[in-house]
Amino acid sequence: MKEPKTLLQAIQFYADPDRAFAAATEFRFPNGVHCPTCGRTDVRFIATRRMWECKEKHPRKQFSVKLGTIMEDSPLGLDIWFAAIWAIANDKNGISSYEFARMTGITQKSAWHVMHRVRLAMKVAGMGDGGEFEKMRGVIEADETRIGGKAKNMHKAKRERNVKRSGSHMAEKTLVQGVIQRSSEKALSHVRLHIVNTTSVRALTTFIREQVEPGSDLMTDTLGAYTSLRDAYTHETVNHAAEEYVRGNVHTNSIENFWSLLKRTLGGTYVSVEPFHLQRYLAEQAFRFNERKGTDGDRFRKLASSINGLRLTWKELTGYEDAGQTA
Ligand SMILES: [Zn+2]
Repeated sequence: MKEPKTLLQAIQFYADPDRAFAAATEFRFPNGVHCPTCGRTDVRFIATRRMWECKEKHPRKQFSVKLGTIMEDSPLGLDIWFAAIWAIANDKNGISSYEFARMTGITQKSAWHVMHRVRLAMKVAGMGDGGEFEKMRGVIEADETRIGGKAKNMHKAKRERNVKRSGSHMAEKTLVQGVIQRSSEKALSHVRLHIVNTTSVRALTTFIREQVEPGSDLMTDTLGAYTSLRDAYTHETVNHAAEEYVRGNVHTNSIENFWSLLKRTLGGTYVSVEPFHLQRYLAEQAFRFNERKGTDGDRFRKLASSINGLRLTWKELTGYEDAGQTA
């Protein structure tokens, strides 16, 4: 059977348990199998159970390929997980949990859970190889936008829940900050996103300092907050209020274009994207934008390789999360 190229082919491809297990083993242990608890590499493979056993005496002597990944504690098969990873890595319009449940024959609740865990993996995949965190450099554009709203259309109970969770009516619109590294000879442009609670100087500049290598060129609009970054960056501004949009290579068109793209994509769905889920939807969009050059198979492998060490419980998924994390 050939390597899959579409979601349907991927579902068929990984329906074979041996094939799915071999792939999962490679994604989980790219440098060879080892015990997730103690690190021993001379582990015994129990073929009948598709598990390994560690020779050390400690809890969880026997471990599966799912242990220590977003799949840990999940009764769902690897075929379902791979289908979810494929779907989320590649469907630009965002496949719903209802559609996914229909395609795979699992319940909508299970589908929702598996898809949200995969979106968490996407957050790490968007940050660079193996979750390694490399700063952006070169020509950088930074900007903010408000996302959400249409609260009128939102069910009343849901609206009140959002207000209760966030303690503010403002949360119906969420402020998102983005930085984009412009394309260069070496790399395509790529974006990082972040939810901010306030437009305070501190909140906005901290993110830039975390993400961008000192010495880079920083392009923003004339929002005062960014001027305090001039100790570390060459800061240039365009004055949108005065209808100035481009001055030589000084502009914020790349990030503005990204905002348009993001809002178009979320347009049909964001009424149902509650603020505390927005984080992961943003991660999803950033991942696809940053990986736009590759094939569906490339994006699948990239995302599947970041499943290590990521756990997310039902409670963490459904409860309120602190905003202010990097998407
Ligand atoms: Zn061990």
